[in-house]
Amino acid sequence: MEYDAQTNTGAKEESLRMVSAAPIGNEPVSDEELRPHALEGFIGQPLLKAQLQLFLDAARKRDVPPDHILLAGPPGLGKTTLAMIVANELNVPIRVTSGPAIQHAGDLASILSSLDSGEVLFIDEIHRLPRAAEELLYIAMEDFRVDVMVGKGPGATSIPLTLPRFTVIGATTREGMLPSPLRARFGFTAHLDFYPHEELEKLIERSAVVLGVNLGEESAHEMAVRSRGTPRIANRLLRRVRDWAIVHDLDVVGPADVKEALSLYQIDAEGLDRLDIAVLNAIVSQFNGGPVGLNTLSAMVGEESETVETVCEPYLVREGFLIRTPKGRVATEKAWSHLGLVPKDDVSKLF
Ligand code: ADP
Repeated sequence: MEYDAQTNTGAKEESLRMVSAAPIGNEPVSDEELRPHALEGFIGQPLLKAQLQLFLDAARKRDVPPDHILLAGPPGLGKTTLAMIVANELNVPIRVTSGPAIQHAGDLASILSSLDSGEVLFIDEIHRLPRAAEELLYIAMEDFRVDVMVGKGPGATSIPLTLPRFTVIGATTREGMLPSPLRARFGFTAHLDFYPHEELEKLIERSAVVLGVNLGEESAHEMAVRSRGTPRIANRLLRRVRDWAIVHDLDVVGPADVKEALSLYQIDAEGLDRLDIAVLNAIVSQFNGGPVGLNTLSAMVGEESETVETVCEPYLVREGFLIRTPKGRVATEKAWSHLGLVPKDDVSKLF
């Protein structure tokens, strides 16, 4: 099972980690205060922003609701934020629901039949809609029609109900799981990517102003490099740094304060936490760099193999600490040197 935004499905441990990309605790509420409301305030993703701007400008000029939009990408990168921005930019209301919240096609039918003209319907985790609801959604998106069943048993009849034009914005962490007929009904698909450090620095500086944290030079950089390319993590680290500043009566938060505050949460200079380090240590120290099978590795670090595979590994692989080979996981030179060790053999022979 893969980890999912919002619900933390299949990754209970993940929700306890400071470097989790999913919201934890009351973050969905505190995320709100840091959400930009206009496309202009949305940091980074320049190509996506330019495409979306054109798409919205054209709809405004034609004076029709825009085509349906699909936002795909890992959790915490701004999909919900973008959906809210689209509604704001179009000056229309937004209705928010999610795949898991819709248990029956009827739940979706009642939402659809109550939409106003031009309204945005945001469906988070759209890949988790039940099959019957998906089918109902195809028709509603294409023909602006929903078939309402009246009565039960042999006497039941379906009455077509015409809907006003509206815009669906779907968000998914797993685009590949969407059936192609559903994917084909989106006029614009945006892929959100992890953010480079410079963009996260800007984001942290902006959030610091909102949260009233006075950051010294280089402080935003120290948080950005530990944020795993993810705005939600960047904002979370900033909140913990704010706690530190409050408790220590700091007027200005310097880079040394950031390092000290975040090392208290066992987040190191590359954004790796206790579990990431335990994984690398096990491969390097116990297996001389690998290859190691996932189950053995998970047993060594005392975690579920699912947690290691879906939570730790993607970041370790992306940052070049780990390579997945058919024979198992192999630590790279970068992993050895991050742990302050030198490999005995030529690491590249292990790949
Ligand atoms: P997702 O829906 O992809 O899981 P969210 O839209 O909920 O992510 O974003 C998580 C947090 O990060 C929110 O507080 C949001 O304001 C902030 N955020 C995400 N992307 C950006 C961005 N590009 N610029 C500014 N803030 C962002």
